[in-house]
This record gives sequence, C-alpha cells and structure tokens, in this order.
Amino acid sequence: MQFTLKARDLDSAIRRKVEEISGENVYACYQCGKCSAGCPSAYAMDVIPSQIMRFLQVGLEEDLLGSNTPWICASCEICSVRCPRGIEVARIMEALRHASLRKRLDRIAIQGIPAPAIKETPPIALVSAFRKMTS
Ligand code: SF4
Ligand code: SF4
Repeated sequence: MQFTLKARDLDSAIRRKVEEISGENVYACYQCGKCSAGCPSAYAMDVIPSQIMRFLQVGLEEDLLGSNTPWICASCEICSVRCPRGIEVARIMEALRHASLRKRLDRIAIQGIPAPAIKETPPIALVSAFRKMTS
C-alpha cells in the first residue's frame, strides 16, 4: 500500500467528520503504539490502529476509507483501555465506518455473495454483516 500526503490534507474533511461523530480529538495521539500492540485483530489489518490515528492527523482520506481496518475491528475496546491519552480508539473505528457508509461506500455487495455461501452461513451472521457493512 502506498500513501501520498498533500498539504491540503492537513485540514481534512475526514478528520473533522470522524471527530464530530466520535467526540474524540485525534491530535491527542502521540503515536506510542499501545493500541496497536494490544489489538487482537491487528494481524489481519492492512493499517494498524496507531497508523489509523496518524492517517487521521494528516488527513489521508482515500487511504482511510479504503482500509480494511475499521471493518475488521471487533469493537473489543482494548485499544481504548490501553491508550495513555484516554482516546477511545474503538469509537474512532466506529466513526470511520459511519463516515464510509454515509458516503454510500458499502463494504460488501449483497448481490455478490455466492448462493452456496449464503446457504452455509448462519442467518444471524449475514444479518449482522449487512447491518455493519452496508448503508
Ligand atoms: S476495538 Fe478494534 S481496534 Fe481496538 S483493540 Fe479491539 S479490535 Fe483492535
Ligand atoms: S495508544 Fe493512544 S496515544 Fe498511543 S498510538 Fe494509540 S491512540 Fe495514539
């Protein structure tokens, strides 16, 4: 994954939107990495939680909305508990999901799920996936 920083990103719409939804101040993060070190889902994320915080600080909107991280986040809140700055990182992840869905950027296409997979998947799993990942 390659990242490109532009000067106009520094006052980005995505940072303002995430702060508005979450109530958190992304500039409070000083990049200690404790959230990432404790995250049980970090191994599957393309951008670890502390990097998400940095991306927000510098306004990398495309990279944030394209990342799988907010969708893989299990909302376990370990990151929030570990943060020495008191940042609710789990809320940041939720806000990123909302910001994405408000742009109609669905994470899964219902029509694209093969019929056999639908048949084998517990209905509750499908329903929760649709609720979390589609607008
Ligand atoms: S809430 Fe999400 S980002 Fe935070 S530790 Fe849990 S899985 Fe990781
Ligand atoms: S634990 Fe808090 S201060 Fe440290 S990198 Fe994560 S969000 Fe930033």
